[in-house]
Parts: sequence; structure tokens; C-alpha cells
Amino acid sequence: MTTMRKATADRYADVADRSLAVLRHAEDAAEENGLDPFERITCRLHRRWIHQCVHSPARVVPITGHRWCRDCECPASISVDQLLGDVVIRCTRCLRVPATAATRQLVRACRASLAAATA
Ligand SMILES: [Zn+2]
Ligand SMILES: [Zn+2]
Repeated sequence: MTTMRKATADRYADVADRSLAVLRHAEDAAEENGLDPFERITCRLHRRWIHQCVHSPARVVPITGHRWCRDCECPASISVDQLLGDVVIRCTRCLRVPATAATRQLVRACRASLAAATA
């Protein structure tokens, strides 16, 4: 891939949204210094805002409880309303909102990501 051959500084050059690229870069660095990866509002893996990639299976993390219902041991779906800024996480089996710190953290990150992307 042509975009991969350059140094780190150019790694994000293909990202049209400069503010996203800048913040992602900052969060990559902060993460190496101890920032909780789940507090990020940009995604290292998908190179997008969190609210744009939370639907990905990669965001289901049973160990931490992110997008995961511990009662059912089952993934939770997430819906993001970009207009209203609403974020709802719901177990795909029992349809309840997992009452965990991980759920609250993910909702918080998505709302912050929505806000930053539309700023
Ligand atoms: Zn992602
Ligand atoms: Zn459940």
C-alpha cells in the first residue's frame, strides 16, 4: 500500500478530516503514556471517530464489559443518533442496558466523539 511506505508523521495523511487526524495522533501518544484506550474518542484500529466505529465487532470486549451483557454473556448492540446525540447500548438477547461502568464509559466517549466531530 502506497500510504504505508512513509514515516509515522505521514501515516494519517490519507485522512481527510484533519481534526480527526490530529486528535488521533495525540491520543495514540497519550495511550502510550497511560491513557485508558477506552477513554479515547478516536479509534486507532479504524482510524475514525469512536461513534463511527462502535458498531464494529472489534468493539465487543467481554473482558472489560464493553458492548457486552454479563448476565447473558452476549454482545450488546449500540445505536448512535447523530442528530440527537443519543447513544444507546442494549443487550441483543435480554434487550436491557448493561448496568456497568464500561457501558457508561462507552456512552460518554461516543457523546464526546459526536461533539468533537461536529465542532
Ligand atoms: Zn474502531
Ligand atoms: Zn443480556
